[in-house]
Amino acid sequence: MSFNLPPLPYAIDALAPHISKETLEFHHGKHHATYVNNLNGFAEKDPSILGKSLEDLILSATGPVFNNAAQIWNHTFYWNSLSPQGGGEPTGAIATLIDASFGSFGAFKEQFSKTAIGHFASGWAWLVKDGDKVTIVDTHDAGCPLTQGKQPLLTCDVWEHAYYVDYRNARAKYVEAWWNLVNWDFANKNLASKSLG
Ligand code: MN
Repeated sequence: MSFNLPPLPYAIDALAPHISKETLEFHHGKHHATYVNNLNGFAEKDPSILGKSLEDLILSATGPVFNNAAQIWNHTFYWNSLSPQGGGEPTGAIATLIDASFGSFGAFKEQFSKTAIGHFASGWAWLVKDGDKVTIVDTHDAGCPLTQGKQPLLTCDVWEHAYYVDYRNARAKYVEAWWNLVNWDFANKNLASKSLG
């Protein structure tokens, strides 16, 4: 069995006007697909890769195998962090934890945006569960908080390919659009799964 490109959890034009169909055609159909093809290419040369889950590879592999496994996982997580029904303020357990950890949703939003916009070059901004709190981390390139023992709750892809078609170099406008799509139900689902305690 080889690694597969998971379908988007919504129609390819469902995130417009915030993220266009053209962006998703490239970002999911080309970039995400390329990471899957690359990993399958490595697996042909080293079949032990096929016996492992993406999470196993993220925690154990290095170099190009890590980079492609993590980028597959990160992108699937990113698609689920967005929803055509998303946006607005959080509800439920994630709202309570954000208030407890940052003081208010407004303070959290400001800090998350600053991290996403300020990240130098390619990477990711994440909301993670870290012990009893939720915190914001950014990772470079294919970096994933799973390697730091932190449980991802939401992510924003800040590689240029995530926004260049729609916003050119204006990453801040893309991050603003991200807030209109953020999937709080997914964050609550991740919190409830308690996969990392
Ligand atoms: Mn990407």
